[in-house]
Amino acid sequence: MILKVNAGLLFGIYGIILMYYSFPVDTLVFADLRHLAIVVIASYMGWLPSLIAGVLIGAGRMLLFGLTSSSVSAAAGTCLIGMLCGLISLYQSRRLTKMLIMNFTAMIVILLTMLINLKQRGDLLELFTIQLVISVLGTLIIYTLTEHINTSNKLFLQMKKNSETDHLTSLNNLRQFEQLLAERFVEAYHFDERLGVLAVDIDHFKKINDTFGHEAGDVVLQQLGRVLKGHSRSLDEVSRNGGEEFSVIVPDASPAEVLALAEKIRTAVERHSFELRDGTTIKITVSVGAAIHPDTIQAADARDLLQQADQELYRAKHSGRNQVCLAPPLKRFSEGYIK
Ligand code: GH3
Ligand code: MG
Ligand code: MG
Repeated sequence: MILKVNAGLLFGIYGIILMYYSFPVDTLVFADLRHLAIVVIASYMGWLPSLIAGVLIGAGRMLLFGLTSSSVSAAAGTCLIGMLCGLISLYQSRRLTKMLIMNFTAMIVILLTMLINLKQRGDLLELFTIQLVISVLGTLIIYTLTEHINTSNKLFLQMKKNSETDHLTSLNNLRQFEQLLAERFVEAYHFDERLGVLAVDIDHFKKINDTFGHEAGDVVLQQLGRVLKGHSRSLDEVSRNGGEEFSVIVPDASPAEVLALAEKIRTAVERHSFELRDGTTIKITVSVGAAIHPDTIQAADARDLLQQADQELYRAKHSGRNQVCLAPPLKRFSEGYIK
């Protein structure tokens, strides 16, 4: 909604600029392409911005050229174009078809305005034809440019998503995890807040692959991704760091909260029945290592924190697996520290 209102206002201003820099058809008559600003925003973003742009350009027409009768009829015409283009935007069809229909509709309104404002001119039809040709050419050029920008933007967003996400689980990949951890660490440092990290690793995952096959292993990884996401807080960042290793970045949480989250995840995995494609259900467990800045480590950078979480994971593995190990508190935090 806010985006649409902003787009309407922006394209309204764009239309006013197009109107202000109109070009002479002869010494008395000026043509402009203000209605194309409405056509573009209506075809890309719908009726609301179309209406806003139409009204804004109409108001601009009266402000810039005075409250004469020709200004009022031109302004009313622009508002009408905003309304009609908004209505046409609701019609389902190809964008170019829509833009051409909007353009011709706008040109009919412009013809009516010309009939009111320039009725004394004998060459009205000639003037209108020139403006119509320019307007159709303008629509085709703008369509080509906007489609090119639109496709490039979509491709860019798709590539950005691909470079940040793990294709199997749709979680953050290692590159995105490293970037997020570094960003959260700087924020925590700056605002003097805590930052926790959980390193999660499936126990004896090799056995799953060996027993049920690699494809079944992939299904388990996908479902584990959903379990981790479903049991962490909305502000936590869950990533697949590679293979059967996952992580959760836990900002602004006390040691007790980090430990509770890690335990919640561990028990959720333990209780979950992982369903393979052939309907077989299997059980797995995970080991979790946890570290918190600055409670368990006064980390100089994000890598130190991660390293400690990895060490704790190693400890969990060597203490029998299916458990959470939180790094011991630094001395100055040890009083009143959880367990
Ligand atoms: P531990 O409890 O010590 O963690 O034992 P583990 O068997 O889980 O650990 P190990 O590192 O020995 O084996 C990890 C296995 O994960 C080996 C590898 O084949 C498997 N693996 C890594 N990436 C993938 C993947 O994308 N898909 C599948 N199906 N398996 C994977
Ligand atoms: Mg493992
Ligand atoms: Mg591993």
